[in-house]
Amino acid sequence: MADIIKLLPDHVANQIAAGEVVQRPASVVKELLENAIDAEATLIKLIVKDGGKALIQVVDNGLGMSETDARLSFERHATSKISNAQDLFNLQTKGFRGEALASIAAIAHVDMQTRTDGTEVGTHLKIEGSKIVIQEVIATPKGTSIAVKNLFFNIPARRNFLKSNQVELRHIMDEFHRVALVHPTIEFHFYNNGSEVFNLPKTNYRQRISHVFGTKMSDRLVPVNEETEVVKISGFICKPEFAKKSRGEQFFFANDRFIKSPYLHHSVVAAFEGLIKSDLYPGYFLYLEVNPSSIDINIHPTKTEVKFDDENTMYAILRSTIKHSLGQFNVAPVLDFDHDPNLDTPYEYKEKGVILPKVTVDTSFNPFQSTQEKTGSTGTYKKTSAKGWENLYEGLDAEIKTDNFSSVQIESDNIAQGTFYSDSDTEEHTGTTFQLRRKYIVSTIKSGMLVINQNRAHERVLFEKFLTEITVKEGISQQLLFPLELSFTKQELTVLKEVKDSLANVGFAFESLEGETVKVTGVPLILSERGIGTVLDRIMADYKEGFEGNSISQAEVLAATLAKNLAVKTGELLDKESQLALVNDLFGCKEPTLSPSQKLTYIIISEGDIEKKFS
Ligand code: ADP
Ligand code: MG
Repeated sequence: MADIIKLLPDHVANQIAAGEVVQRPASVVKELLENAIDAEATLIKLIVKDGGKALIQVVDNGLGMSETDARLSFERHATSKISNAQDLFNLQTKGFRGEALASIAAIAHVDMQTRTDGTEVGTHLKIEGSKIVIQEVIATPKGTSIAVKNLFFNIPARRNFLKSNQVELRHIMDEFHRVALVHPTIEFHFYNNGSEVFNLPKTNYRQRISHVFGTKMSDRLVPVNEETEVVKISGFICKPEFAKKSRGEQFFFANDRFIKSPYLHHSVVAAFEGLIKSDLYPGYFLYLEVNPSSIDINIHPTKTEVKFDDENTMYAILRSTIKHSLGQFNVAPVLDFDHDPNLDTPYEYKEKGVILPKVTVDTSFNPFQSTQEKTGSTGTYKKTSAKGWENLYEGLDAEIKTDNFSSVQIESDNIAQGTFYSDSDTEEHTGTTFQLRRKYIVSTIKSGMLVINQNRAHERVLFEKFLTEITVKEGISQQLLFPLELSFTKQELTVLKEVKDSLANVGFAFESLEGETVKVTGVPLILSERGIGTVLDRIMADYKEGFEGNSISQAEVLAATLAKNLAVKTGELLDKESQLALVNDLFGCKEPTLSPSQKLTYIIISEGDIEKKFS
């Protein structure tokens, strides 16, 4: 048999390697920023177009490269940062593999201009798919500018796989944050599609954090400092009352690199125990310094997980350090009119007094009488009815204007169309329900027993309601007498802008989406004023995750998110009328059997099943 093994040509090998290093535009941003930092730049500009798909450019004022180095930098395993294996254990730079530029050049159009201090003219290189197409001398400032255009131009499958510009931009912002937060002495400028997103002057850690996340952040930070033989910890935690549902303000850096460590994250959460609700995340910006030889850096280029030699000790030190800081700085209550008063009560107490959900049920309602006025909508189980002058209903006009007859018709249509009981002749609802363990609603039907999961069922009901509202724009808005000012980070604002129109359709009304604060002037009828901030936080966190995970339409993700966050929870007591209303609404749904997350909403235990148990 003839020999069949061949060595792959370089450009093919580079393309394969590129798949590992470059997953999306944000990966390029990370590599270029890190190279600029390694080159000792004090000023770095990041310029991005179309979520990085059209252009990613990093301009630095660092050391620059000689003509030969400039050419060499695009070769695989070409690096100025280590020269032998021993160097790996004492790494002072971010890069060391010499892979990034070679990989990027294999899958994009790269334009580099660079000049070192000692020379008069610099080098201009243009590379397309690993091939040098232009090399010339050029007059250019000291430092390096690398522009990466048309990412994945030669790998259409990868290009098609990229998410929307907004989503890619968010990933880029994440990478930018990770780098900017750990290098406060470097000045950063970030432009997206021609407009400035960040302008971060040279400063200290605390200021840098508030420049990135908004000036309000500064008052929320509690310093953390500890030095032991194993680790030196510095940085900040956010006061417990500012804990959020969204992950995103949790940062660990080890020896100036952003790292992810679920284990250490857990130790921070443990330190906050009892101070925040279990579904909220404490914010933190923690800078760890360890002996370089005690941390495994020889990790995958795109991975941020690390392995510490002595993880258990780190865990314990971190936890007690944070507890100490919390104790020292958090004894005095904060007077802050913007913060959610709910969080003042320790949550254990808050949940003890159960508030009975109130239902707006018009007991005199009679579907056969055409003079009824119906204002309630599905999904108002928890909502106390609108209190006279306090609430001005925006969008209600439309409903009132339709004549009474047709609005009653719509209502009865709703019941008839999908009702479980009237659907088949054999099932007949007896109209009695009871709640089991504040989790299930049990009802009898002719063939046996119906057990409904209250949370999932309500999620289904709300999901369908919101989905219709988002698409036909009919959500009823409850105007706030006093608009609520909420502050968001720039990143959260991009998410908010993305979903603003849909949120408006379900009843949210916003004013001024610029700057750091957003004025909320109206909310959906079902939402009580108290929870607006929390719910918006959650919506954005969940939406962000949901939308990236799969490709279903924005409306569906948003409807599911809203439903999830506003549905009656397990543990909530429901009175008879609410139970009955929920049962009816559920079986008025198009798909009553499954919750939006595809879990069963109810089961039927047949008479046969019951009989079997007795036999
Ligand atoms: P690594 O960073 O792992 O060394 P890269 O492919 O990212 O590998 O870069 C290769 C080499 O190119 C670097 O080692 C460095 O010498 C040089 N280089 C890259 N970017 C810059 C820059 N912005 N300024 C100066 N030199 C750079
Ligand atoms: Mg590098």
